[in-house]
Amino acid sequence: MKKTTGIDRSVTSQWRPQTKAVRAGTWRSEHGETSEAMFLTSGYTYDKAGIAAARFAGEDTGMTYSRLQNPTVAMLEERIAMMEGAEACRVQASGMSAMTTALLCQLSAGDHMVAARAAFGSCRWLVDSLLPRFGIETTVVDARDNSAWEKAIRPNTKVFFFETPANPTMDIADLTGICTLARAHGIRTVVDNAFCTPALQRPMEFGADVVAYSATKLMDGQGRVLAGAVAGTEEFINDVLLPFQRNTGPNLSPFNAWVVMKGLETLSLRVERHSNNCLKVARSMEGRVKQVLHPFLDSHPQQALAKRQMDNCGAIFSFVVDGREQAHTILDALQLIDISNNIGDARSLMCHPASTTHANMGEEGRAEMGISEGMLRINVGLEDVDDLVEDLDHALTVAGL
Ligand SMILES: *Cc1c(COP(=O)(O)O)cnc(C)c1O
Repeated sequence: MKKTTGIDRSVTSQWRPQTKAVRAGTWRSEHGETSEAMFLTSGYTYDKAGIAAARFAGEDTGMTYSRLQNPTVAMLEERIAMMEGAEACRVQASGMSAMTTALLCQLSAGDHMVAARAAFGSCRWLVDSLLPRFGIETTVVDARDNSAWEKAIRPNTKVFFFETPANPTMDIADLTGICTLARAHGIRTVVDNAFCTPALQRPMEFGADVVAYSATKLMDGQGRVLAGAVAGTEEFINDVLLPFQRNTGPNLSPFNAWVVMKGLETLSLRVERHSNNCLKVARSMEGRVKQVLHPFLDSHPQQALAKRQMDNCGAIFSFVVDGREQAHTILDALQLIDISNNIGDARSLMCHPASTTHANMGEEGRAEMGISEGMLRINVGLEDVDDLVEDLDHALTVAGL
């Protein structure tokens, strides 16, 4: 296997983003295949006993077992690291295994973490239920309020954890402000960048230490596989994350790694179309529903901040109608857009967070997060935008809007 056809990283790291998305991390076997090979193997063999011994001693860089290394998985890791502008990356079986790994690998009983209030449902479960079970204290704050982060800091605060834009409220967190504050207090920031991907937002450019992904979403982009990734410094990935990951085994399968790698090749084309469609669909609804929550609309209170951090708006926005009944009527009247809680898919998908993704956190929890009974979230896909606008127009009309 030859890494990136033998070209030095000092050259490949200078490639522009789209070149990295197509080519970074390409290793070729002696066959010279153009498309990356899929190594569906759990183990490796050795020509001599001494080679096996050298590999286990860390004196030989060859592979030993796919929970520790796999060529297809390693290609994806190198590609994401380069797209992110990170020194290193490791991938996991899902976005949630990425978040769990990124947090548990560095937190111990007696530590404290501050996290954003508005977050993906399972991320909030980690914060509210899992970490406290292991003696890790957590505090949730309104991520839009920089002073709330500062006030929540304790002497034992180790990590700040947040996503931006947040799911499903589309709240924007100030990456520079929060990461600068964290640095000043020796706190590590973990940013869930699933909504954006490195094609739209690179948190490390604003001072983030660790970036974590659900690669299930826009990175795969076609709703095929679950995958996750964590990127950071070599020191963090090798010394802090890897011992945890290698011994607990939240590994991504080589097949799924290959699918995501193919997805990355078209990522920038897709996010451009997603973003254009998303803004057009959002504009078509303004004035017709109670509220449109879209970070690139003039009506969004954090539009300027969003535009400073994000190259484009991405695929997702939310809007608010008059309660659960009207929201369900709209979903039931759709003729093109699917009722689905997934996001980052080429298909347009819509869901009612209060009765699905955020149902089990209770009414009080939702109210605190800003999720109302009338909120609908849409993943705007790659279909012709006029068909999407017409489908929503029809559904809103049926609901009396
Ligand atoms: C989907 C998602 C996750 C979880 O990812 P899975 O791949 O479903 O495990 C975490 N954070 C955000 C923001 C997400 O959208």
